[in-house]
Amino acid sequence: MSKLVITDLHVTVDTEDGPKEILKGVTLTINDGETHAIMGPNGSGKSTLAYSIAGHPKYTITGGTVTLDGQDVLSLSVDERARAGLFLAMQYPVEVPGVSVSNFLRTAKTALDGEAPKLRTWVKDVNAALEQLNLDPSFGTRSVNEGFSGGEKKRHEIAQLELLDPKVAVLDETDSGLDIDALKVVSEGVNRFRAREGKGVLLITHYTRILRYIEPDFVHVFVDGKVAESGGKELAEQLEANGYDKYVKANA
Ligand code: ADP
Ligand code: MG
Ligand code: MG
Repeated sequence: MSKLVITDLHVTVDTEDGPKEILKGVTLTINDGETHAIMGPNGSGKSTLAYSIAGHPKYTITGGTVTLDGQDVLSLSVDERARAGLFLAMQYPVEVPGVSVSNFLRTAKTALDGEAPKLRTWVKDVNAALEQLNLDPSFGTRSVNEGFSGGEKKRHEIAQLELLDPKVAVLDETDSGLDIDALKVVSEGVNRFRAREGKGVLLITHYTRILRYIEPDFVHVFVDGKVAESGGKELAEQLEANGYDKYVKANA
């Protein structure tokens, strides 16, 4: 099971001028095995949605609920959310100097499972994951995100996704800064993940490009802090042709 249900979510962010409402009633259900794309103009609150699901302290939930398989996500700590099966890949991943990719992944896996993975199979799994993402085995010895290119950051995220094997993955702008080869490699990783039994994916993106490689089951247009329209993958094609003007004007 991996059912993520977001109901009438309202979120404010702390700004210098005080709290500002960014999410204005987001309602969205990702059923077992479904991939949903959220598309919207810059500043519409897409990353705020990802951060709110992740439990980022800067964002205050002022209303609504988020549940994963019936469990109240919003009352959980960030660690507990991961253990519950949520995976969040952020638009701006943090650097962790002095911690190697291999150790980072092993620590994360250990924290999730409550026990360390068996070393021999783990090393094999890590190397296989890196290889599939066109990363050299020596990548495992580098400090997390330190000096990573845009493409390496995203490939590292997908390595985490494949190795940590969450129930639901929230991927924020996974396509940003990728050239076409990296985009294909990253998309293939996401597609391998979603081919596993019952996995949910929430793919947040400004551009339709990645949706040519990761075909969503549902597309939601996100404007001014909420879902303005939902449809199938043909909705992404309409957005590619017409842009967001219609929605932004309707909202103004
Ligand atoms: P998107 O990801 O769709 O581009 P964001 O969620 O990043 O949108 O931002 C939505 C709005 O919230 C923007 O107006 C942005 O300036 C504001 N915002 C988001 N995070 C913060 C923050 N930490 N501090 C101040 N304003 C923020
Ligand atoms: Mg409301
Ligand atoms: Mg964003």
